[in-house]
Amino acid sequence: MKKQTHTHEFNVLRLSGLREDQVYTIGDLGCLAAHVFFLVSFSVLGIVPMAAYNVFSVGFYAVMPFVIRKTKNRTPLMFLVMPEIMLHTLLAVIILGWTPGFSMYLIYIMAIPFLMPLKRVWVPYLFSGLCVVEFIALRIFCGSGYSPVYALSDSMTLVYYLVNTFSGAVIIIYIASIYMFYREIMQRRLISKNESLQQLASVDPLTQLFNRRSMTDFLKRIKESGKPYTIGLGDIDDFKKVNDSFGHDSGDEALKAASRVMRRLIPAEGYISRWGGEEFLFVIPDCGLERGREYAEKIRQALASEMISSESGSFRVTITIGVCEGAPGADYEPLISIADSRLYEGKRSGKNIVKAS
Ligand code: GH3
Ligand code: MG
Ligand code: MG
Repeated sequence: MKKQTHTHEFNVLRLSGLREDQVYTIGDLGCLAAHVFFLVSFSVLGIVPMAAYNVFSVGFYAVMPFVIRKTKNRTPLMFLVMPEIMLHTLLAVIILGWTPGFSMYLIYIMAIPFLMPLKRVWVPYLFSGLCVVEFIALRIFCGSGYSPVYALSDSMTLVYYLVNTFSGAVIIIYIASIYMFYREIMQRRLISKNESLQQLASVDPLTQLFNRRSMTDFLKRIKESGKPYTIGLGDIDDFKKVNDSFGHDSGDEALKAASRVMRRLIPAEGYISRWGGEEFLFVIPDCGLERGREYAEKIRQALASEMISSESGSFRVTITIGVCEGAPGADYEPLISIADSRLYEGKRSGKNIVKAS
């Protein structure tokens, strides 16, 4: 279970469309190119032990892309790359001395273990600590006064120094890019997760209308905006009978149909919510009582003529709506009470009606 989580987190390392295995393969191919250069140049110079070690390294980095593709959990591969570089550096400094700059790799690679998932916190510190210890030891034992096994010419020393500096820069940029893209991807994931959570928290799952909580927020905002607004509180008529006659699922279909009708007819600046079981509340900003009443009337008519088909048969439902106008900055609670009493009036007067006074 734990392993799966880590693998999944690591798979997040996707650099602008590149898959994680491709990202690592690019790094590996960079290492391969550098080692091919070392193999060829050491062979030409006749530095046998270094050439021999580079035969091993070239083989190592040539096989790695296949291992990367085959392996799901790539963390242990990092643990192979680290010792390879540490050993290579050790040999290079002992054989060629301090001046060609091979020791710099120990500093360049120190951040690599920190890329690994946080399984055991001490592991990256151990690896980077070992790099520092090796660097210091090599400086002490192979620094000034040390006569290398093979003395490079000044020009070759400079060539290796420059190649090592360049490779080091590439290593650092590569590692830093992984961190940068990783951070970006995590941020994007977090934002989209937040958005979907917010969506889940504010939308009614059955009707996909805003829920009561979200409507309350909207009402508070509209009150603060200081705009006049009109609200309509609608309640499906005899809904209990729909459930009793056609079943709860058909009742749900009716709620969805009513929601669709309202969504279609309320203007874009309006806000519609499922306020309760079969009650809906809509709010239209910058809207007077008459226009609000017209919208409610359109909804009432459209719903009454809508045939709802369900597995238990087809039927129609009607809605009664109480409409009320709010002055700029008006509190919404008293308005809802007024709309509710108008709705109640509508129910008493025979239902399927809009009441705006
Ligand atoms: P009135 O015309 O006076 O509004 O009568 P009514 O039957 O619609 O009102 P009442 O409040 O008595 O019944 C509302 C019913 O709505 C009761 C409840 O079971 C049903 N209801 C509430 N939420 C849902 C839901 O999500 N799905 C279904 N199918 N029914 C629901
Ligand atoms: Mg009802
Ligand atoms: Mg009701």
